[in-house]
Amino acid sequence: MKIIMLGAPGAGKGTQAIRLAEELGLPHISTGDIFRYNIKNNTELGQKAKAYMDKGQLVPDELTVDLLLDRVAKEDCENGYILDGYPRTIPQAEVLDKALAEKNEKIDYAVNIAVPDENIINRMGGRRTCTNCGETYHIVYNAPKVEGICDRCGAPLIQREDDKPETVASRLNVYHEMTEPLENYYKESGVYVEVDGTQTMDEVFASILALLKD
Ligand code: AMP
Repeated sequence: MKIIMLGAPGAGKGTQAIRLAEELGLPHISTGDIFRYNIKNNTELGQKAKAYMDKGQLVPDELTVDLLLDRVAKEDCENGYILDGYPRTIPQAEVLDKALAEKNEKIDYAVNIAVPDENIINRMGGRRTCTNCGETYHIVYNAPKVEGICDRCGAPLIQREDDKPETVASRLNVYHEMTEPLENYYKESGVYVEVDGTQTMDEVFASILALLKD
């Protein structure tokens, strides 16, 4: 099964994508994580991507699309995958659809986690991210068992540069302008489903599972 997670930054799509990937035994593919890995290792791609990410802007499609297509061509993606953070623009979606169509394949679901802007601003200020596995927490709504430490892998948690308040507003603007049109794109192709992202994490997860047919 091939699933795309949609939603504003901070809607909880990363957390839900990781849970869904574990539940379905599919790889979790986050372009944001791939960029952050490259930044950590100081690669050329990492240096280029960082300049955009720190400002809350999208990394240009020409740096993103091939990276994603290479990743989904790997063997572990044979039975499907959960995409988290890709596509973020209509052209990115079109390129993926075209690559899939060439293999007679298609996206099965685009799951939108709908959360109003005012909730997003509140959530992102409290978000903390694992420096190792990328798992995300919230200091109030989804606190780790030990403050500042990842429950899954024990690595330290940080506030990502792009979760700092000055960057959040610009990420939301970019989301509305560039990414939200994907809702109609996937409605038109008949794979769009939506869950209420203001529910608890467990409720959101249960709502997503209930929407996926075998
Ligand atoms: P995320 O971890 O998905 O919130 O992504 C963090 C940042 O990485 C975003 O704000 C963008 O700057 C960049 N990014 C991740 N995925 C994409 C993408 N598909 N297209 C463009 N930029 C991306």
